[in-house]
Amino acid sequence: MSKVKKKVKVIKIDAEKCGGCRQCEIACSSVHAKPKFSSSNPARARIQVVRDMDYGIFLPVYAGGYMAAECNGRQKYVIKDQEFDECDFCTAACPSRDLFKEPDSGLPLKCDMCESVGEEGPMCVKWCLAGALTLEEREEEVEEGVKPDEMEIAMRSLINKFGRKNVAETFNRLTQKS
Ligand code: SF4
Ligand code: SF4
Repeated sequence: MSKVKKKVKVIKIDAEKCGGCRQCEIACSSVHAKPKFSSSNPARARIQVVRDMDYGIFLPVYAGGYMAAECNGRQKYVIKDQEFDECDFCTAACPSRDLFKEPDSGLPLKCDMCESVGEEGPMCVKWCLAGALTLEEREEEVEEGVKPDEMEIAMRSLINKFGRKNVAETFNRLTQKS
């Protein structure tokens, strides 16, 4: 696969400025509500803020996408004498936890940089009034090619959760009705 240069948007996180207000979670869930901006539910957000009120530790973590299997991460993080484990700052929607999954369907969530609102986004950056999130652009070499689209990722996650046979049977039943 050939590589091309592309401008990539990056969100820079300044954890020192984050006060844990969770406005970013609200903004994200709201822009992804259907219809857009009709509701907000932080459980549906593609950003989650790890919060430890006692130690004043706040760290926004972005949903990085679906992982079919648990990883073998065995890290420990120590911040201000407080220990965090390997899953606390992980960006993956994986089988071992409920984070970054739609609460109703269990389908994985992934930050899409608010592509549906174009230059108005990213909404988490816009609504972070503390200035902990800022948008930057950089040039990167990326592989040309077709990425698996949202539908394919969702189908793969359903197959992993319920099995190929159950998904196929349900799909057939639903499509016969319509
Ligand atoms: S909106 Fe900004 S300050 Fe508030 S929790 Fe999110 S990143 Fe932190
Ligand atoms: S960039 Fe958009 S999709 Fe990604 S976490 Fe922020 S609000 Fe959500």
